[in-house]
Amino acid sequence: MFQMSFGLTALFTETEEGSYRSRCAEAVQRLATVALCDTSGGFAAAQVLLSAYNGQNWQLAITDLSLLDPGLLDRSLLVISARARFGIEPHTLIDNGDRLFNRLGSKWQRYRIDNRYKTECRECYGSGEVFANLDDDNDDTMKTCPDCNGARYQ
Ligand SMILES: [Zn+2]
Repeated sequence: MFQMSFGLTALFTETEEGSYRSRCAEAVQRLATVALCDTSGGFAAAQVLLSAYNGQNWQLAITDLSLLDPGLLDRSLLVISARARFGIEPHTLIDNGDRLFNRLGSKWQRYRIDNRYKTECRECYGSGEVFANLDDDNDDTMKTCPDCNGARYQ
């Protein structure tokens, strides 16, 4: 795939480049903290990070950026710009980035491109669990949904 990227050194002095990378690293760290949460903002932050990490497997829906507060939106645009203009991969900016991004990928597996458009499991209504004992109305014990095997989608 053709990738247009301009060298950082052509645009920045060494000091400016260091500052730029620091701002990008802070943005990745903040977005990652949010992306580990089960919130709409976490969903959007995860899309930004995972799309910048691996655009083959993850794709950001731009309208979902509206789920972020202004500070996180600015950080998202910085991460996107760093990736698009300079080829800076977000996981390289932080310590243990590979491990963190693998964790994010596992957490948000439902939205990986090959899963994103699958349908919600009809047996468990997307919860991944069903009542273990349907014959007893007083038993709230749950078990993994046998139809989707807990994946929540099919
Ligand atoms: Zn299910």
